[in-house]
Amino acid sequence: MVSGSDEHGAPIEVEAIKRKITPRQLTNQYHRVFTRSIKQFNIQFDNYTRTESPVHKKFVQEFYRTLDKNGYVFKQNIILPYCENDKRFLPDRFVEGECPYCHYIPARGDQCDNCGRVLDPKDLLNPYCVLDHSTPIMKESASWFFDLPKLSDQLKKYVEENPNLPENARNFSLSWIRDGLKPRSLTRDLAWGIPAPFEGAQDKTIYVWMEAVLGYISAVKEWAEKNKKPSQWKKYWLDPASRNIHFIGKDNIPFHVIVFPGLLLASHEGYNLPWEVASTEYIQFEGQRFSKSQKIGVWIDEALELEDAEYWRYAIISLRPEQRDTNFTWEEFERKINTELNDVVGNFIHRTITRRPRTSSTISKRRQPLSERERTMALLQDRPRRSRTDSRCSCPDRRNDWNTAPTIPSNNRNTNPSQPLPRKEAKLATRRGHQRETWC
Ligand SMILES: [Zn+2]
Ligand SMILES: [Zn+2]
Repeated sequence: MVSGSDEHGAPIEVEAIKRKITPRQLTNQYHRVFTRSIKQFNIQFDNYTRTESPVHKKFVQEFYRTLDKNGYVFKQNIILPYCENDKRFLPDRFVEGECPYCHYIPARGDQCDNCGRVLDPKDLLNPYCVLDHSTPIMKESASWFFDLPKLSDQLKKYVEENPNLPENARNFSLSWIRDGLKPRSLTRDLAWGIPAPFEGAQDKTIYVWMEAVLGYISAVKEWAEKNKKPSQWKKYWLDPASRNIHFIGKDNIPFHVIVFPGLLLASHEGYNLPWEVASTEYIQFEGQRFSKSQKIGVWIDEALELEDAEYWRYAIISLRPEQRDTNFTWEEFERKINTELNDVVGNFIHRTITRRPRTSSTISKRRQPLSERERTMALLQDRPRRSRTDSRCSCPDRRNDWNTAPTIPSNNRNTNPSQPLPRKEAKLATRRGHQRETWC
């Protein structure tokens, strides 16, 4: 299993400028946090890498040279906001303004956080540069595109003939293809990123969404190199008997079922296309959509300050929204841990382990006929379990079995705003109120 830190893009560069550090210093900080959190949550990767890895950068550049050679890349001029003070184009999050659809301020150049629509920087009403708040001018800039429409028929065949795609991924992708695929922007006027390898694109970098997805391959290449078997990556990506499975949320369906397979097909290298894309529905937080910018949710480092990693692992996997959106609430989290994990699963395992030696000795004893006393004792031992009507054992000598793992005290969560918050909750609320780092 491989994954990595997605380290490029306008949000990183904007954040680094605001903090007066380099993007590399910022991503180093985050990469350390991510690797530490992954370890704390007991998640094991064969290779957890980063998109600043030299292996990834080299692979991406070679990959796009091949696509260019194969005739899937073209150049076109586009209109972009340009800041005359900073002497730079303002792609994506370098520009903010009013959303042309819901009139929310500040909507960002690439997306409105309020209505969720994907935006083009030039569509913003009353745009301003995020660095100095001046009004940008509109200026022409050369841009390179991936000719996705050329692959419509092949992609339609792939989606229709792949029995492992879940319904949501298949339906969404087929409707996308039916509506007509559009060329995908490949470059950005940003200094931070992987330099675009196209002729005349010396001052451009590859758009983050179009290179991070190639990390699935480069991470396996890096893993193979680390293991001193550099060609072993081919077994996973070029051997038709191999299967690659992707775990994503439904917002990433277009990139994993259309764009990524499209890139692989355009390379003519014979890569295995995603065999299964396990695309879940959304999980909400207390009835609201998680939002980094609006501070809705629990941050990964805060989660561990509140409860043990194993509690989170169980609660999140059991809430996995496979068929429909699910909702995380503190009450449900508490119920899952106290009732499901500790009472049901915990006690099942605990009783199995603690009763095993006794059962073994009973079996060996039963080679001999039971005495009158043994029969009476066996009946007495079984009686409480037979007569129990609720989920809790009433037998005094068994009561401790139900408390083998610590439960979350019910007063640890506060749902009534008029009551003072318990210590941990108050801490979380305070931290939520502070400016958090944004990350994409
Ligand atoms: Zn500016
Ligand atoms: Zn909006």
